[in-house]
Amino acid sequence: MARVVILGAGISGHTAALHLQRQLKKKAEIIVVSPNSNWNWIPSNIWVGVGKMTKDQVTFPLAPIYKRKHIGFRQAKAVAIHPEGSPSNPQGFVDIVYTDPTRAGEEEQLTYDYLIVATGPKLNFAATPGLGPDANSWSVCTAGHAEQSAAALETIIEGLKAGERKTLVIGVGHGTCTCEGAAFEYTFNVEHELRERGVRELADVVYLSNEYDLGDLGVGGMIFAQNGFETSSKLWTESLFRERGVRAILRAHVEKVEPGVIHYEELDGSRHTLDFDFAMLLPPFRGVDMKAYASNGDDITEDLFAPNGFLRVDADYETKPFEQWAPEDWPKTYQCPRYANVFGVGIAFAPPHAISEPRKSPNGTVISPAPPRTGMPSGVMGRTVALSIADRIRRGDQATLRTASMAAMGAACIASAGTGLRKGSAAAITMYPIIPDRHRFPGSGRDLTETSGEIGLSGHWTKLLLHYLFIYKAKARFGWFVIPE
Ligand SMILES: Cc1cc2nc3c(=O)[nH]c(=O)nc-3n(C[C@H](O)[C@H](O)[C@H](O)COP(=O)(O)OP(=O)(O)OC[C@H]3O[C@@H](n4cnc5c(N)ncnc54)[C@H](O)[C@@H]3O)c2cc1C
Repeated sequence: MARVVILGAGISGHTAALHLQRQLKKKAEIIVVSPNSNWNWIPSNIWVGVGKMTKDQVTFPLAPIYKRKHIGFRQAKAVAIHPEGSPSNPQGFVDIVYTDPTRAGEEEQLTYDYLIVATGPKLNFAATPGLGPDANSWSVCTAGHAEQSAAALETIIEGLKAGERKTLVIGVGHGTCTCEGAAFEYTFNVEHELRERGVRELADVVYLSNEYDLGDLGVGGMIFAQNGFETSSKLWTESLFRERGVRAILRAHVEKVEPGVIHYEELDGSRHTLDFDFAMLLPPFRGVDMKAYASNGDDITEDLFAPNGFLRVDADYETKPFEQWAPEDWPKTYQCPRYANVFGVGIAFAPPHAISEPRKSPNGTVISPAPPRTGMPSGVMGRTVALSIADRIRRGDQATLRTASMAAMGAACIASAGTGLRKGSAAAITMYPIIPDRHRFPGSGRDLTETSGEIGLSGHWTKLLLHYLFIYKAKARFGWFVIPE
């Protein structure tokens, strides 16, 4: 029986595992490897970070779901891939180290016929001295981090209630960060919480980002058609910042975070400091630490993985100037070029380049967002690769691989701007395609009729509904597969 090993049980890996099981039932053995025992609906960590949800509301244990679905589960981390197997057995295998408390540190070699790498990001706090919850700033990247941020925010609110002035800085902690949308959401959720608690007046809320303009969001900004007029995500976002009294510092690379002081460089090369009482700064991402070896034991990590640690797939990785970037550069099948039975999905695949225009300061510091790979495309990639592998297991290696290029895919993202059934709001953003195509859509590179932005209470209701819907789907409850990724 063919064995499919999936590394990672996040949005892309878990989606792939459920679809493979539904497609193949008992025709294949499916094994998921993940160091965490829980699944986390990461978008709702924002609400954990302001104390509006608990960690238990955004996570659930994976083992019972996998047991019910007859999917093997190893609570372990993958540390090396051997795509050519060993001198005595050409079948590929993965070295894993258990994190399961009952087997902690135990090692195993897991052979595979097909491998899906869906390991998401390594949260690279180490790239910026003093960044992160073990040092001088907070994070909302995991449910545990978000809980710590909520506790720290509570202390700040107590200080504000006692009449103290406080500066809250929210944003990204390095010039090459991605996920500005999450920083945007947390900014406005914190601002909303301060208003709800009656302490907004004494708080200075600052958004600190590597974006060139507000509304860039790592996708180079967007143009929307609204009521017969065209508007930009820049104007749209600027008006929200003005309305809520949030100050923005843009084009910034955080160099280090000391207790209460952020040191940053701006795109013009100037250096500044910013005092803070509370700082939530997202880390830059890189691929998780994994090695790769040929059958003779040679280290082939650099062949399999790009320098940023993400898995090379069927993208065009040739270095080109921004003007020559094309939609065709982006991967379609997510198949590894050198090993046809290895695939990389979600944040784990190496993008060919950024989406926003790359920029450097006169000091040579890169200050521009890395390309985001949000939940919806990550889930779509997971499903697409699962269906490709199911086809190959059923019909043999000649079965055509399915495609899901981000250059031919739309995305919908609802950015919370404050929770609450009556007073909440969210910015609902849709775009098509994710990767701008200036030949098909001269000007902005996107279809104006399918790219839109709208803010309001209904957006909050939709975001809340999606929270319950995606957790229902991830729990593989009745009819889960009719809920789109
Ligand atoms: C705070 C925040 C808010 C967000 N909000 C939104 C939003 O509103 N909408 C949206 O579309 N997107 C949002 N995103 C982005 C979204 O969370 C990601 O796009 C999505 O999680 C990517 O899925 P993934 O499967 O690639 O990675 P992940 O979901 O991060 O999953 C990675 C998996 O790999 C596992 N893993 C790690 N190392 C190893 C290893 N060595 N071996 C095996 N497994 C390993 C991890 O434990 C995890 O299970 C948000 C992100 C953040 C941080």
